[in-house]
Amino acid sequence: MMCYSDFPMPDHFPNYVNNSTLLQYFRLYAGHFNLLKHIHFQTTVRSVRQRPDFSNSGQWEVVTVDRDGREETHVFDGVLVCAGHYTQPIKPLSDFPGIDTFPGTIIHSWEYKDSDPYFGKRVVVVGIGNSGGDIAVELSRACEKTFLSTRKGAWVIGRVVGRGLPLDMTMVRRVRYLIYGLLPHALVSLIWERIFNQRYDHKLYGLQPVTLSKLFSSLMIKVKRSSEFKEVINNSPELSFQTGFILTVNQISLHSYPSPKLAALQVDYIPYIDSIAKEVGVRPNIAWLLLKDPAVGLRVFFGPCSPYQFRLNGPGHWSGARQAILTQWDRVAKPMKTRSIPEPSSFSLFSWLGLSGGAALIFAFSAMQIFPLFLNIRTLLPLLL
Ligand SMILES: Cc1cc2nc3c(=O)[nH]c(=O)nc-3n(C[C@H](O)[C@H](O)[C@H](O)COP(=O)(O)OP(=O)(O)OC[C@H]3O[C@@H](n4cnc5c(N)ncnc54)[C@H](O)[C@@H]3O)c2cc1C
Repeated sequence: MMCYSDFPMPDHFPNYVNNSTLLQYFRLYAGHFNLLKHIHFQTTVRSVRQRPDFSNSGQWEVVTVDRDGREETHVFDGVLVCAGHYTQPIKPLSDFPGIDTFPGTIIHSWEYKDSDPYFGKRVVVVGIGNSGGDIAVELSRACEKTFLSTRKGAWVIGRVVGRGLPLDMTMVRRVRYLIYGLLPHALVSLIWERIFNQRYDHKLYGLQPVTLSKLFSSLMIKVKRSSEFKEVINNSPELSFQTGFILTVNQISLHSYPSPKLAALQVDYIPYIDSIAKEVGVRPNIAWLLLKDPAVGLRVFFGPCSPYQFRLNGPGHWSGARQAILTQWDRVAKPMKTRSIPEPSSFSLFSWLGLSGGAALIFAFSAMQIFPLFLNIRTLLPLLL
């Protein structure tokens, strides 16, 4: 489901792409829209200032410096600052008394590249967020022992759900949010708790989060408090202080909504993206769509909230959006079609239809024969008694 709204992933790409395939997709996107000529790699923006005539022109003066130290000044009509919110990792080392005497390596997930440096070592990954989970799984194939530490537990949800379909395509649907909105929060949490416990009993695995509401809150990773962390180490005889461990924590604690900084971390996807889309003028009008183009309207409402929905109307309207919505499930299926499975032939289908039709006729005929007998017995019974 994750892709640029006007550029679906090639249909042969897997449903969950790895880093090199994602890079390939970015390159395809840049190539398709001929963007490379506009991108200045290895160039730092040093300053962004309003021009002296800003009140009339609305223009900005941007000073950049390239990797050879060459400075350049550019004039732009608009500036978008997309400097990223994951660029300053936090290592709250002061929360871990005695950490300064720890002889192993300490890194943040931000610095993690691959498992090679940890081969044969014992590693603790602190924090059971997405990155923590991914890294722990990868390390477990190389390390002697891998620990994944969590303070309050977490709901472990696979990437694929019922019938092996991608989680996001299945869950992130407008109709679901509507239904959840109508039901009491506690009930919704309870339903989901039962669903998630079908795969793993979270209590059995010691993972059950404390509160139900955690289920719908963010995937923010909490740092283990020092005392609890010590406990993990003490209770893990396999873990020695010669091990390296990876600190994987989010760098910001965010509490308000909506806020651009918080957005990617802690909000419900559909209401949040709709609120932005409304401001831009691209939020799909479901009622109107259902009337005008029911095939698309039904998919927009009942189907995955895929990004093409925001290209149907308004600024940036894309003529391919309709087709992209109609074929979204085909792109999920395509990478799985690595071998052809013979479809039941039309002959055998007709044979089955013929057989079942024949069986139905025989049953009807017998029933016509037997039913009067029952009638007769019932009419005869009083006489017999
Ligand atoms: C360890 C880790 C794992 C992650 N795993 C996933 C994952 O599996 N799936 C997922 O969807 N997301 C993942 N994320 C989150 C994802 O990387 C971010 O949400 C996403 O990259 C944010 O995109 P962005 O464009 O806002 O910022 P960024 O991708 O951070 O891009 C900001 C860019 O601005 C540049 N920049 C900053 N200041 C300047 C300047 N002064 N001049 C010029 N350039 C500048 C930076 O160099 C950077 O290239 C992960 C993040 C981290 C840290």
